Amino acid sequence: MPRIAYVNGRYVAHADAAVHIEDRGYQLGDGIYEVCEIAHGQVVDMTRHLDRLERSLRELSMRAPMSRKALSVVLREVINRNRVRDGMVYLQVTRGVAPRDHAFPSDSVQPALVVTAKRMDRAAGSRRADTGVKVITVPDNRWDRVDIKTTGLLPNVMAKQKAKEAGAYEAWFVDAKGEVTEGASTNAWIVTKDGMLVTRAAEHGILRGVTRTTVLDVAKQLGLKVEERGFSVEEAKAAREAFLTSATSLVTPIVAIDGTTVANGHPGSVALSLRQAFFDVAEKTPA
Ligand code: PLP
Repeated sequence: MPRIAYVNGRYVAHADAAVHIEDRGYQLGDGIYEVCEIAHGQVVDMTRHLDRLERSLRELSMRAPMSRKALSVVLREVINRNRVRDGMVYLQVTRGVAPRDHAFPSDSVQPALVVTAKRMDRAAGSRRADTGVKVITVPDNRWDRVDIKTTGLLPNVMAKQKAKEAGAYEAWFVDAKGEVTEGASTNAWIVTKDGMLVTRAAEHGILRGVTRTTVLDVAKQLGLKVEERGFSVEEAKAAREAFLTSATSLVTPIVAIDGTTVANGHPGSVALSLRQAFFDVAEKTPA
């Protein structure tokens, strides 16, 4: 019997079920999910799963794709169409399909909903329970590997949205020590009062931006002094200049941090000269 999935309003063959490449779950990890057990044709703990789903939606300011009642109809329909008596039903909601941008899309974008169900071998579970299982330990580094450029960008999405709502271009992440790590999609820099260019060392808690690396080369060519170290929000607010870097923003001067004007509130000369010299130094491959 062919498996059936629910995808955005349609029941389709599992083999053909697909979402758009610009689904925000796919591109940004901007989605949530639930899994319920199905035992003897009954959905187990459905109320608690739907409660948690609603909480997850709320926490991420995500709209529900449909009412709770309609959702429970779809869940049951998928389970029944797949004739699952023992197994699981999986549901995933994302913030929908929109041109890639960290900040939330317009309210007109409909959240996306996918539901699948599959059979599972109840006897295998019982056998595992009879014998018991082994575990290993690993460091809890979830949210910690920001040095890898993954699509698991939900914290960055939330930060960028906060910036947008505050009328800002970027949000800077601040660590437990009060030091700036990096932006939601950019690296963070300051120029101190005595002209030292400062950016956090790439080993600790940031993505090693390619633009950051090239800007370090540019700085060397311009004879600027550079220190790779953390800096506090206070130090940044009191700095002579602040700026951000990324492949799409290049070197972009910052004129205010949390509402505090940086220096005289105008783009700094070091940032502008780095921006100016950037293309002379960066590798250029004909497209
Ligand atoms: N930091 C984060 C979290 C980013 O997502 C990005 C780019 O997307 C950067 C820094 C800047 O990296 P790059 O200069 O390679 O664009």
